[in-house]
Amino acid sequence: VQETTEKTATPVRLTGLVAVTDRLREAMWRLASAGPPPWPAELLTAIRSAAQRVESLCRDRGGPAELPAASRRAYQWLDYLAQDGRLEAHLATQRLAATIAGRVRHERGRPPGLPPLRVDFYNTAMLYRVRPLRAGARADGLLVTAGEGFVGAPAEVVEALVRLALPGARRRMAGLRAAVASYAAGPDFRAVTLALELAAPPPGGGRGRHHDLGAVFEKVNADCFKGRLTRPILTWGASTGGRRLGYYSAVRDTVTLSPKLDDPAVPSYVVEFVMYHELLHRVMGAKVAGSRRYHHTPAFREAERQFPRWAEAKAYLRADH
Ligand SMILES: [Zn+2]
Repeated sequence: VQETTEKTATPVRLTGLVAVTDRLREAMWRLASAGPPPWPAELLTAIRSAAQRVESLCRDRGGPAELPAASRRAYQWLDYLAQDGRLEAHLATQRLAATIAGRVRHERGRPPGLPPLRVDFYNTAMLYRVRPLRAGARADGLLVTAGEGFVGAPAEVVEALVRLALPGARRRMAGLRAAVASYAAGPDFRAVTLALELAAPPPGGGRGRHHDLGAVFEKVNADCFKGRLTRPILTWGASTGGRRLGYYSAVRDTVTLSPKLDDPAVPSYVVEFVMYHELLHRVMGAKVAGSRRYHHTPAFREAERQFPRWAEAKAYLRADH
């Protein structure tokens, strides 16, 4: 458990972190638009080492959660992409965007000489934005920067993001904006947003206002794992948004629970159940089939049912408290 007095330490400032993510984004777009997978592993290595460097630079000063907003978002994005399968998914959606952009630019009726489009996905504060790309003094294309949550979105949504960057009839644009907003309000987008948020949660070592994750872990470990587990990093997430109640990061061996659970109205056995669920992810890992990874397998669900108050906890969570 970290001392909460760390909160009074000076905030860390990291110069160059946002510039590093800018360079990575450029490299990602180049790779994704140039050809299909397999993509070289160097990019993932660069992302992981950048994330680790940030962590070691602010280790003694409250961790990445204490960074100013732009740096914190940059770090969250690096940490998010550093984990299994996410960079591939990111590049695959960028590749889809590149293909769509190439097609849309050359549609009949489009004026000749439209600028080239680049589509980035990033840990943005807005859903998306469009700005000119500059090479020296002159505009050299258009850059669409969309939220990381759009990675994995259906082709119509990616196409809407591309089309929003180009001129179009007003009514048509309204329809595109609606398609984008509706996807962003859905569970897939929000799951990404929460996972990004959880990457740099506030310090405090899991001691919440009402529930202490250290004590929760000890009880679950004793009751359900015969005390055999070592203690992972335990932390409360920063955001109460999203539906996800917990998250396990294997790369960082961290269990993060949503602060929604840190409430006197939430019974201890519910917090324990969510902790148990995340610890099962740690113990069972993912089942890999082809390029996909499955986490909630039938075996996982069976193990989940071994929780002593499984039915009660499930019923409580289903009632959407
Ligand atoms: Zn799960």
